Amino acid sequence: MAVLWIALFVSAGTPDGGTVDAGLPAVPAEWAAVKTPTNGPAASFGGYSAGCLQGAATLPLSGPGYELLHLGRHRGFGHPDLVAYIKRLGAAVKKKKLGMLLVGDMGQVRGGPTPTGHKSHQTGLDVDLGYAFPDWALRRHPTAVERETVMAPPVMDLAAGKLNDRWGPRVASVLELAASDPVVDRIFVNPVIKRELCTHAQPSSQPWLRKLRPWWGHHDHFHVRLRCPAGNAECVSQEPLPPDDGCAKLAWWFSEDARKTREKKAAEQAAGPPPLPARCREVLDWKK
Ligand SMILES: [Zn+2]
Repeated sequence: MAVLWIALFVSAGTPDGGTVDAGLPAVPAEWAAVKTPTNGPAASFGGYSAGCLQGAATLPLSGPGYELLHLGRHRGFGHPDLVAYIKRLGAAVKKKKLGMLLVGDMGQVRGGPTPTGHKSHQTGLDVDLGYAFPDWALRRHPTAVERETVMAPPVMDLAAGKLNDRWGPRVASVLELAASDPVVDRIFVNPVIKRELCTHAQPSSQPWLRKLRPWWGHHDHFHVRLRCPAGNAECVSQEPLPPDDGCAKLAWWFSEDARKTREKKAAEQAAGPPPLPARCREVLDWKK
C-alpha cells in the first residue's frame, strides 16, 4: 500500500508549499470513525492539510472512464465540485480514448485528518488518480477483490529516477486534460515527470503545464487539488502558483539541497498535525 498511497502534507517555505511523503504522527481516529456526511450546503472549511468538509458528495463506484478503488478506506467522498470534476475528467478520458482513470483517495465523509496515508485531502478538494491501469480495466469492471487490492502501476522507477514504458503521449494527454479544467488549482507529479513534460510540451509556457507542480513521490499517481469552491468563504486557499511554468527551476529537485529539505520536512512533520478550525468540531459532532 505504501507505494501508491504516499503520505502527504503541506508545509511552508518550500518551492511549492506542497506535500511530502514521510512518516506521520498519530492523528485522532475520530474523523475516520464517522460514516455519514453532514447535512447542509457543501462547504470546505480550513486548508487542504487542516480542514474538514460539510455536505460531502459520494463518487459512484464506476462511471464512464473511471473506477473508484479501495472502498474499505472510506475515502471516496468529496466536495460536489470534486465529484463532478472526476466524472467530467473520466468522461473526457473515455471520449478521447485515453484509457481509464483509477481513482484512489479522495476525502473522508466529513474530511479531516486520516489516521494513515495523508496529511492533505482534508477538505474534500484533493484526489489521487493513477497515471496507468491494468489492461483488463478497459474491458470490464474490477471484481470486489480487485477493487480493494489493485494498485495503479507506476510510470517510472522511483529509485532510478527514470520513466518506464508505461509512460508515453497517452499519459501526457491525460495530464493535460486533467490540468486544463478551470476548477483545478494545481496537480502534483514527480519532478522526473514534470521535466519530461517541460522537454516536450510545445510551447512550454502552456497554462496547463504551469499547474503541474513537482513533488516527491507521485510516480504511480498524480494528485489533483481543486481551488476553493465559489462561495466557500471559510475555505483556505494555497498560496498562488508562481507566474512561470516552473520548468526553469526544476534542477533544484535533483539537488542535494532538495534531498536535505525532504529530510527536514519529515522531521517537522513528526511534530504533529496542525490544529483544525473551530468549525470542524461542529462538523465532526454533527448528528441527524
Ligand atoms: Zn494525494
